[in-house]
Amino acid sequence: GSRFQNIEQGPPIEVFQLNKLFTEDTFQNKVNLGVGAYRDENGKPWVLPVVRKMEKQMAEDATLLHEYLPVLGLESFSNASVSMLLGQDNPVIAEGRAFGVQTLSGTGSLRVGAELLNKHLKYTTFYYSSPTWENHHLVFVNSGFTQPRTYRYWDEKTRAIDFAGFVEDLSSAPENSVVILHACAHNPTGIDPTQEQWIKIADIMEERKLFPFFDSAYQGFASGDLDRDAWAVRYFVKRGFELVCAQSYAKNFGLYNERVGNLTIVLSDAKHVAPLKSQLTWIVRGMYSNPPAHGARVVANVLADGRLFDEWRDHIKFMSSRVIQMREALRAELIKLGTPGNWDHIVKQIGLFSYTGLTPRQSEHLVQQHHIYLLRSGRINICGLNPGNVAYVARAIDDAIS
Ligand code: PLP
Repeated sequence: GSRFQNIEQGPPIEVFQLNKLFTEDTFQNKVNLGVGAYRDENGKPWVLPVVRKMEKQMAEDATLLHEYLPVLGLESFSNASVSMLLGQDNPVIAEGRAFGVQTLSGTGSLRVGAELLNKHLKYTTFYYSSPTWENHHLVFVNSGFTQPRTYRYWDEKTRAIDFAGFVEDLSSAPENSVVILHACAHNPTGIDPTQEQWIKIADIMEERKLFPFFDSAYQGFASGDLDRDAWAVRYFVKRGFELVCAQSYAKNFGLYNERVGNLTIVLSDAKHVAPLKSQLTWIVRGMYSNPPAHGARVVANVLADGRLFDEWRDHIKFMSSRVIQMREALRAELIKLGTPGNWDHIVKQIGLFSYTGLTPRQSEHLVQQHHIYLLRSGRINICGLNPGNVAYVARAIDDAIS
């Protein structure tokens, strides 16, 4: 017998399972609207030209070694990340009360941040939006949080934010609850609070003494503008909150598998930075010891060079514009077909995803009958659309609904 014989099969991860089914599907016109990664107008993954350029340059650089990075990562990278998130001139940087820790992409950043809050501040309750990115729950529970709670977010009837529900749920949250907030381009709904709504959220969180944990996986990717996409985080900082923010470079640099991320931490007083860094060092030491260097070097080098930075900004504008065009194209096709329902939400939503409003049954119909792969929740990755397949997808949606 084996010691492992009583281990039961766990459930599949929906998004990876879907990807596998897509890869195995031999149908010529199959469409992948599942995984949240950018695709070009031919449906192919895209390595950003500025990343390729930097990688070539780095490959020739004999001074780059494979020595260990410090436990908290490459400092030029984490400093650049903090500046990108908060704005270079943010007073909290000059005051020395903001710092960054290089992490294993956005997920690793959430994991380290959550462990910090649980272990050292003894926080146990966390709130996430209903719905949210499907990994928030697991990451926080694995970090020691024992009280998962949701706040209302998506209103199915209006296909907009249920703001009254959101406010009500935060208002009844116990003190020191950690509230996960999507910095921009909410996944999966594609709907963000307005600035007025953010102000109200900050009011309640201040009054109820809740702790903001921002998740910024799409800075620059949502609007094409890095500053606009960071508005909410900067607003909370300006209001005087202490907060943490998980940043991912998976989407905006296309560095998905390099696991490049940063945890930005803003404190009320610079004197708390050193002890906190030392404790974070022990958290990371016991989790993975230290992060990989390649992707962080790419990002740090691009962010540090004015010309390359501009090139990168053009890339994110290009990607976000293509997403916007495809939203419009899909809506136009559905209107042309006279598909029942109102499709304005597709163009109102931002970021990579659209929460279409398709039911699980309709979504499955698209997978099984039309080789169009999407999550059961009806979330589609807009980048999976291109001029060559958008009419096909619209006809299939029409078929699923009619
Ligand atoms: N947070 C949100 C909201 C996301 O959508 C994602 C990726 O899909 C992540 C975090 C983390 O991604 P990664 O760990 O690849 O950076």
